[in-house]
Amino acid sequence: MKIISIYPGTFDPITNGHLDIIERAAEIFSEVIIAVAQNSTKNPLFTDEERLELIRASVKHLKNIRVDCFEGLLVAYAKKKKASVVVRGLRAVSDFEYEFQMALTNRKLAGKLTTVFLMPHEKYTYLSSSLVREIAQHGGDVSGFVPAIVLKKLKKKFKR
Ligand code: ADP
Repeated sequence: MKIISIYPGTFDPITNGHLDIIERAAEIFSEVIIAVAQNSTKNPLFTDEERLELIRASVKHLKNIRVDCFEGLLVAYAKKKKASVVVRGLRAVSDFEYEFQMALTNRKLAGKLTTVFLMPHEKYTYLSSSLVREIAQHGGDVSGFVPAIVLKKLKKKFKR
């Protein structure tokens, strides 16, 4: 049975933690659509195009991945893409409350859409895009946290 999944997020920028979840999802589902949220209220550091480009370059080694962007309701986007699963990553208990609320709300809006949570490798449980942005902004070394292409782009962004 072909199961199409969506991994939505801001990915500002994509980190090795995101990549860990993407690789796990790619093993389980026929197809994983990485969906970059546009018009995020988060005022991202990287533009939609930049975030898409960085993801595309980082997942080149995987076959069953598509990279796309979406705006509006995730449930509407999922329906359009004929996806039945939403993939989200759970790092720590601190992620739980928000993710729980989102998953149940999406289920209420679209009963057939199931949210599946994947846990990354322990070494990524503390990693977040915001932490990466903060360290990079202050000239710290984020080479162990992000794909090489992201590292390059961050260095360019924060060139002093
Ligand atoms: P959002 O703004 O939707 O939270 P993010 O890009 O921050 O977008 O995260 C997208 C998804 O990836 C979320 O489910 C988040 O919990 C998960 N995620 C982020 N960082 C990691 C990580 N280091 N390990 C595992 N999952 C992660």
